[in-house]
Amino acid sequence: MDRQDFTHTIRTQMFVDGRFCASGDSRTFAVFNPATGAEIAQVPDATDTDIDEAVTAARRAFEADTWRRLPPSERERLLLRLADLVERNGDELAALETLNQGKLLGFSKMLEVGGSVQWLRYMAGWATKIEGSTVDLSLAFPPGVRYNASTRRVPAGVVAAIVPWNFPLLMAVWKIAPALACGCTVVLKPAEETPLTAIRLAELAHEAGFPPGVFNVVTGQGETAGAALVRHAGVDKVTFTGSTEVGRIIGKQCANDLKRVSLELGGKSPVIVLDDCDPQRAIEGAAGAIFFNHGQVCTAGSRLYVPRARFEEIVEGVAQVARNTVLGSGFDAATQMGPLVSSRHRDKVAGMIAQGRAEGGEIVAGGGDGNRAGYFIEPTVIANAANQPLTVVREEVFGPVLVAMPYDDVEEAIAAANASEYGLGASVWTNQLDRALRVVDAVQAGTVWVNTHNMVDPALPFGGFKASGIGREHGRAIIDAYTETKSVCIAY
Ligand code: NAD
Repeated sequence: MDRQDFTHTIRTQMFVDGRFCASGDSRTFAVFNPATGAEIAQVPDATDTDIDEAVTAARRAFEADTWRRLPPSERERLLLRLADLVERNGDELAALETLNQGKLLGFSKMLEVGGSVQWLRYMAGWATKIEGSTVDLSLAFPPGVRYNASTRRVPAGVVAAIVPWNFPLLMAVWKIAPALACGCTVVLKPAEETPLTAIRLAELAHEAGFPPGVFNVVTGQGETAGAALVRHAGVDKVTFTGSTEVGRIIGKQCANDLKRVSLELGGKSPVIVLDDCDPQRAIEGAAGAIFFNHGQVCTAGSRLYVPRARFEEIVEGVAQVARNTVLGSGFDAATQMGPLVSSRHRDKVAGMIAQGRAEGGEIVAGGGDGNRAGYFIEPTVIANAANQPLTVVREEVFGPVLVAMPYDDVEEAIAAANASEYGLGASVWTNQLDRALRVVDAVQAGTVWVNTHNMVDPALPFGGFKASGIGREHGRAIIDAYTETKSVCIAY
């Protein structure tokens, strides 16, 4: 499918203060269909002035009584209405995502649309359940005076939300749904590669009845529009999902401005197979952990640790899965893996595979581009039988590239798994509960899965240890991210 086959209108403007708008100087940039390399749209390249207008609109909407002082049940109702609209327009949104991002249409429907609806409904429920506590004070002065003290959770204010391109619609919803539930207003900047579903989401929020300025979308480059948004004095809270490299830049700026910040960053997640695990289950689990969404997953299981006696069998099994994977357009029902998101990213991943080979890794499967137009990389398995310190073991690839390493005892596997600057996700594969729990205890990661990988749920907190981030999304934990605690002390 190409631009002309997409029968819906593609919205290509920013959405600020309840209206579509171009950038102030009318500059635009192109977005592409990664399966073909064809241009599908031009969207505004926001200037500092555009960012200022969007933040000003969000500030105005925050200060007005039309959002944060709405009865929480009204905010809940609007979020539920948005969920219904996303569901009702699901086929269009899914096709738009596949056209712009390249993922399989089935995953766009199930995860981008289905996940967004699920998160919107879950977070809508929180709007009416935000609560503080009463506190008994020990103050004994002045004599005879008593105190009544309590805490309240109040909205953090104007939120700048910056998201990546791997799950464009879902990542946007992970930010906006809880922020809006808490009474914040939002300026969202989608990734430059994948802005189209975020623009449509803002339009649907408008249709749902969100007041102007409550939810705005600006499009633009990270170093310009993104940076201007982060440093804008009208922003109270920055929530960022993206690379650790950019997370450090944003964290530094927010520290300087004393802005609240949440960072969901990169990963290099280990998959640890124990020797009692059925080999076929290990093979399917390891392949799913790395190849899902073409490896463009922050928790992708990119390091595989296998008992030495099973190494060849399991690595060859995952390699077979890779070799048998059908590459193609996400719209083709026969396709099992689509393209990477951009030519730049494809070149980066190809470069890291070449470096892995040059440093002594053995390419057991894949490594090429599948001889296709578009931004394809074959699912790739690199055997690192000698446990060499390959760059591809250390650095995040964010593509369908697995490096497999043998180990002799579990302690060694755990030490290797933890020898990473990242700590986002990890999985262990075994039938023995006690052994699973010992690995769960020892692995440094925000989420540890047992006999599964990459599973997320709106009720389960998610985030990183170490360089994988600061803060947690989802569940009750998310309320802390979008509210401040206000203590109230009454003398009587
Ligand atoms: P990226 O860091 O290059 O870009 C992410 C967003 O930041 C984009 O919108 C970009 O425009 C913006 N940006 C870039 N430079 C900026 C700057 N100086 N100031 C403000 N904004 C700026 O990341 P990416 O390549 O789009 O996404 C891939 C990365 O995201 C991977 O590292 C992946 O692990 C990570 N990720 C993490 C999670 C998580 O929950 N931990 C989820 C998904 C993706």
